[in-house]
Amino acid sequence: MDIQSIRSQFPILAEKIHGKPLVYFDNGATTQKPLSVIQRISDYYSKENANIHRGVHTLSQEATTAYENARNTIQKHIGAKENYEVLFTKGTTDGINLVAFSFGELLNAGDEIIISAMEHHSNIVPWQMLCERKGCKLRVIPMNEKGELELDQFDKLLSDKTKLVAVTHISNSLGTVNDVKYIIEKAHAIGAKVLIDGAQSIQHIQVNVQELDCDFYVFSGHKLFGPTGIGVLYGKEEILNQMPPYQGGGDMIKEVTFEKTTYNVLPHKFEAGTPNIAGGIGLGAAFEFLNSLDMKEVLKHEQELLDYATAELTKIEGIKFYGEAKEKTSVISFLIDGLHPYDVGTLLDKMGIAVRTGHHCTQPIMDQFCIPGTIRASFALYNTKEEIDVFIAALNRIIPMLK
Ligand code: PLP
Repeated sequence: MDIQSIRSQFPILAEKIHGKPLVYFDNGATTQKPLSVIQRISDYYSKENANIHRGVHTLSQEATTAYENARNTIQKHIGAKENYEVLFTKGTTDGINLVAFSFGELLNAGDEIIISAMEHHSNIVPWQMLCERKGCKLRVIPMNEKGELELDQFDKLLSDKTKLVAVTHISNSLGTVNDVKYIIEKAHAIGAKVLIDGAQSIQHIQVNVQELDCDFYVFSGHKLFGPTGIGVLYGKEEILNQMPPYQGGGDMIKEVTFEKTTYNVLPHKFEAGTPNIAGGIGLGAAFEFLNSLDMKEVLKHEQELLDYATAELTKIEGIKFYGEAKEKTSVISFLIDGLHPYDVGTLLDKMGIAVRTGHHCTQPIMDQFCIPGTIRASFALYNTKEEIDVFIAALNRIIPMLK
């Protein structure tokens, strides 16, 4: 993989922060955007802007075609059977809330939902709200000290009461890659549906929803080189058809009368109101960017970065890693003895290095490790070993300053 050629497609990587070349290691929070995505959004607003699906005029038809082509591009990339199984949302959080609300309407008091100890708040709170609404029960798969799910405990949690299992594919705080295939198979064996939170996956690995056989798969555009405010909920046709609409409004209806309104077919049934048209088209461009890469090469490169950074960080006295799973990718969470993560993050920023500090929207993980938060460096395909060297040198300067 020609990293320099990839880097040259991301204009922000040439920026300076506090007079220093930007080292961007906050990709778990959001990724940077290639020129092709930026240009596609600009072209849409400059040349094609119109509302979609309803207009007979040329611009409306062009915008509709561009938006629906983006859906088709995403369908092919994630291996969905039908393009109408790809629903545009605002992002991962929005997709999970849609399922919690709509699929949740099919649940009854006493039904159980299983999540895991390493979920992002977005994959915890919507289920808690559903449980409060419907009298369902939330069960949690425990996690061991290395940050791996205890799948033997998961097996024990499954019962005929389990209606849905919602787990993350890759942990945003620890980098753990979960064996979601196993989880899906086991859940299906007792008749439960499975939602996979893919917020941290598609930018690192090739995902095929049919091979996984998951019932729902959710992700955010902004974490895979696309725009903010757009994401996808993939759902199996049969289940989406059983679910009631999430929101009412334009586009999701077939016919409206004051006596009885009927609903549109998929995907429109779940896409009420004027959507984020530019976002959808921009997300299509982000998937075209991903399609231009060999995802095996991407993973290999990111794995090399992870191994190199881990080895270099290990040399720092007083370092403690959080998340040492056997299957892990692109995220290093750590603390340095005696230093507050916020102080480290603030000083790294002064040296042009962007990392995240805090609980990363996974407070239960921090509680389990009895810490308030970590320093998290998260890599993407455009990062380099040279940037890791800059990062390590910066840490070696910061540590004596703070001690
Ligand atoms: N799930 C995981 C694993 C995440 O990493 C994130 C964001 O960090 C989310 C859900 C929420 O994504 P968004 O804020 O884009 O909806």
